[in-house]
Amino acid sequence: MDSMRREFLHKLKGYLNFLKESDFIVLDGGKRRDLFQESGSSVEAEEKAKKLKTIARRIASCHKCQLAKSRTHTVPGDGSPHTQLVFVGEAPGFHEDEQGLPFVGAAGKLLERLLGKIGLSRKDVFICNVVKCRPPENRDPNPEEISSCEPYLLEQLEVLKPLVICALGRYAAQTLLHTNEGINRLRGRFHVYHGIPLLPTLHPAAVLYNASQLQDVEGDFEILKQKLESLTG
Ligand code: URA
Repeated sequence: MDSMRREFLHKLKGYLNFLKESDFIVLDGGKRRDLFQESGSSVEAEEKAKKLKTIARRIASCHKCQLAKSRTHTVPGDGSPHTQLVFVGEAPGFHEDEQGLPFVGAAGKLLERLLGKIGLSRKDVFICNVVKCRPPENRDPNPEEISSCEPYLLEQLEVLKPLVICALGRYAAQTLLHTNEGINRLRGRFHVYHGIPLLPTLHPAAVLYNASQLQDVEGDFEILKQKLESLTG
């Protein structure tokens, strides 16, 4: 009997390893993986990825506002098409414009550290901006640029259907929530953006200038983690 059981367990282990190596399942990481890996069928997952690429292609050929003239690359967003957590910043800066990827400068490094503290990496989430092209000299995007670009964000959210959004910084939070309230009053509690819970927090770049704010942001990331856990059971 014991030898039969041993043989069965040996075969089962081999089969699970086969599945793991074929990327059918992820055995390590437990709940964290369950939260952030594909939740639907692989067909559904591929569909999402395809739709996001189509939106990115449309953004790449967008000339709806003047930012198209000065940009090097459009920065549509980057990350997992299967995620339940989306981060939205303000607009690409110098490095993002150079590389076509969001949050790749110093602020991006801090964002990655904050994600790490709640057991995530940038591959687990989707990161994008309200405005997909760099405003010259990193000025704030103007209302015309925002109204041209926000529909792309809405399309991305429609595809991703995240459980939670995190707005990074005063500008993203005020723009998405249509409010002039200061970030210190907005942050740390949930609001609603097109039916999705949205947590504003401080912009990582602002935290780099004022390290005393780090604790507040870390607290907000902990709130994000708890919210996701409560929504996913
Ligand atoms: N700041 C932002 O708001 N977005 C980026 O992509 C980079 C820096």
